[in-house]
Amino acid sequence: MAATIIDGKAIAARVREEVAAQAVQLRERTGVIPGLATVLVGDDPASHIYVNGKQRASAEVGIVPIDRRLPADVSTAEIADELESLNADDEVSGILLQLPLPGDLDGSALTALIDPRKDVDGLTPVNAGLLAFGRPALRPATPLGVMELLADTGVELQGAEVVVVGRSNLFGKPMAALALQANATVTVCHSRTRDLRGVCARADVLIAAVGRPRLIGREFVKPGAVVIDVGQSRLTPQEAGNKSGIVGDVDFEQVREVASAITPVPGGVGPMTIAFLLRNTLEAATELARVQA
Ligand code: NAP
Repeated sequence: MAATIIDGKAIAARVREEVAAQAVQLRERTGVIPGLATVLVGDDPASHIYVNGKQRASAEVGIVPIDRRLPADVSTAEIADELESLNADDEVSGILLQLPLPGDLDGSALTALIDPRKDVDGLTPVNAGLLAFGRPALRPATPLGVMELLADTGVELQGAEVVVVGRSNLFGKPMAALALQANATVTVCHSRTRDLRGVCARADVLIAAVGRPRLIGREFVKPGAVVIDVGQSRLTPQEAGNKSGIVGDVDFEQVREVASAITPVPGGVGPMTIAFLLRNTLEAATELARVQA
């Protein structure tokens, strides 16, 4: 039987509506209007598209977008000054340093300068450590979005075998930590994993975040497993033919024949990332309002 297609677009739209309603409530209760500052360095076209998308989405839910753009030849000290001034600004609830940074600028060292209470990407060492300890903190948006997709689909994680392919700080590690917190038995795979196919085929829930088009074929998937495809690779126009130029890590047509549920690319995990970035910003604003009251 063909798998249920998990509709990330619809679930993300519901999350965004909830954020919009809660932003109104926060303003009425405390006078606080959440603000999301994006810091964009250099001219990378993909980064410009991502930041513009995040700003548009913020404005749509009543979060004020605060736009900081710096030239590619900016120094580390100047970016640090910018982050410090945003840390100190009461109108800023969330700060996002768009990665990767150009040239030799050290993205993780600069990210670490963001006030953890405003770290809506959940990437500072403080928030990563709190997540590892299972303590409350701002979490990275994409793994939060995956948890919501699983919850919305009615997937029981307690006791389930969850396999995460990819171990980045941005996704794989926090995803594994969240699944562990939900009492799953978690295995994390990476480029040196022996027998990737065999490990993946054990999974009740298989989550792929690699960036290799259609790496995960039918034989990687246990019949009835739930498959979440985080990967996003851009095909050349020739490779894409007349389809969308974005492709995931999972061979969707093959795997939908064996999985019980699967996310498409596009329209699966992608929309959840922005929705949870907005939710994190609202959460940060709510907490700052509570502390300042
Ligand atoms: P990343 O930092 O490049 O990490 C990729 C991971 O995949 C690494 O851990 C790497 O292993 C592993 N890997 C590479 N080749 C492999 C192979 N053949 N077999 C098994 N594992 C392999 O990437 P990322 O930032 O986590 O992103 C991964 C993908 O998810 C990308 O396509 C990205 O665009 C997408 N993504 C999408 C969203 C969204 O909103 N939808 C958000 C975040 C990421 P090593 O550690 O051993 O090198």
